Amino acid sequence: MRIDVITIFPEMFAPILNESIVKRAQAKKKVSIHIHDLREYTDGKHKKVDDRPFGGGPGMVMMAKPIFDAVKKIKGRRKAKVVLLCPTGKPLRQPAVKKYANERNLILICGHYEGIDDRLNDLVIDERLSIGDYVLTGGELPAMVLIDCVVRLLPGVLGKAESLTDESFENNLLDYPQYTRPANFRGKKIPNVLLSGNHKAINKWRKEQSCIRTKKNRPDLINKK
Ligand code: SAM
Repeated sequence: MRIDVITIFPEMFAPILNESIVKRAQAKKKVSIHIHDLREYTDGKHKKVDDRPFGGGPGMVMMAKPIFDAVKKIKGRRKAKVVLLCPTGKPLRQPAVKKYANERNLILICGHYEGIDDRLNDLVIDERLSIGDYVLTGGELPAMVLIDCVVRLLPGVLGKAESLTDESFENNLLDYPQYTRPANFRGKKIPNVLLSGNHKAINKWRKEQSCIRTKKNRPDLINKK
């Protein structure tokens, strides 16, 4: 998989690209990630990417031309899914993450200020994606969220120790509680069943705990199920 990111803050990406699973996935050549500075696609010495909104109002809007030129140049003749991170997009959920993990080429656009010139939606953008019902300053953190959750699903990226099964949102359930040594921490003991060695009983307990947690914290998932 290849992921290209268009941003006015390219340096924000170094920490996520150079640590943990995303770093390992690049080293194993499961993914190549390319960060592009939008200002390199601007004309003039001020490298201007924004302008005042038509119709008035506060803030600035990212101009269409630099983003249009960047997408065209980066995409070239390749087929690529172009995704704008924006709070007005469809909410990102695990089934969509799985879908993105099947793409060969993703181009992510990070907005700023009041957002981007809306005409880009017809011209270059395939999908608009929100990572949640809150407004961030820019699309960089959402792009990093998307990169992280997609890359860990690519075949061969996670080792045996980090299983993808039994994770939250599989089968519309949240994950069950996990514990590790010591079995007694400050008087808090782990459930006896986990020490029983009875795998059938442990599985049953875990499934029940998943249901209890989901009902409490995400009843909307239970309804779906
Ligand atoms: N005026 C916009 C609105 O009210 O919907 C908010 C723009 S926000 C300050 C600037 C940029 O941050 C957006 O263009 C987008 O790229 C990114 N952003 C902010 N919140 C986001 C979210 N929840 N999901 C994805 N991207 C987000």
